[in-house]
Amino acid sequence: MESLGDIALLVSQCNDCALHLGRTNTVPGEGYHSAEIMLIGEGPGAREDQEGRPFVGPAGQFLEQLLSSIGLGRSDVFIANMVKCRPPNNRDPFPEELQACSKYLDKQIELVNPLLIVTLGRFSLSRFFPGETMGMARGKLREYKGRNILPIMHPAAALYRPDNKVAIMNDFGLIPAMLSTLGQASGKTTAPTINEVLPPEQLTLF
Ligand code: URA
Ligand code: SF4
Repeated sequence: MESLGDIALLVSQCNDCALHLGRTNTVPGEGYHSAEIMLIGEGPGAREDQEGRPFVGPAGQFLEQLLSSIGLGRSDVFIANMVKCRPPNNRDPFPEELQACSKYLDKQIELVNPLLIVTLGRFSLSRFFPGETMGMARGKLREYKGRNILPIMHPAAALYRPDNKVAIMNDFGLIPAMLSTLGQASGKTTAPTINEVLPPEQLTLF
């Protein structure tokens, strides 16, 4: 597993847990190979399973809106999931399935080496901070084994509760300032698109 392409190929042939039985396509993840931000969801849904791409259904549409609210698009970030095959009827992934699939995500994190990992939902939250609730953890930048982690609710949670939508939008809004602080601390420069995001009223001044 020396490249993201190697990982995608291995995933496409993987039978290491029962989820391989029900999949149409594997969904290894996609995006910029050196992205500053890596987003980690739960697992493919129906649309993702059909297309072999992460977050292309309704939750993905909202995720794209969230990214554009901070001046980013899908190709600026890397989008992955905890499990790469769709659980039947979108049930929760079982612990043994999460465990079997974690080697791929571990390697993706190592290769992309993002400045910030944004976990989406409780499964990716518990990968880094087991036992913590979303209410405790969300919107706070944390460190885990030298990695910077920002836990956020899953965008699908916004689809059925408007107050969740506000919480997710607010948490996403924290990302540009966090990235710029982290970029300065690490000596890396942050993507210019991030620094150039201005509210519309400011843009009209120029
Ligand atoms: N929900 C997820 O967690 N991941 C996807 O790729 C799509 C929906
Ligand atoms: Fe392999 Fe992961 Fe798919 Fe299970 S979910 S079959 S471990 S790629």
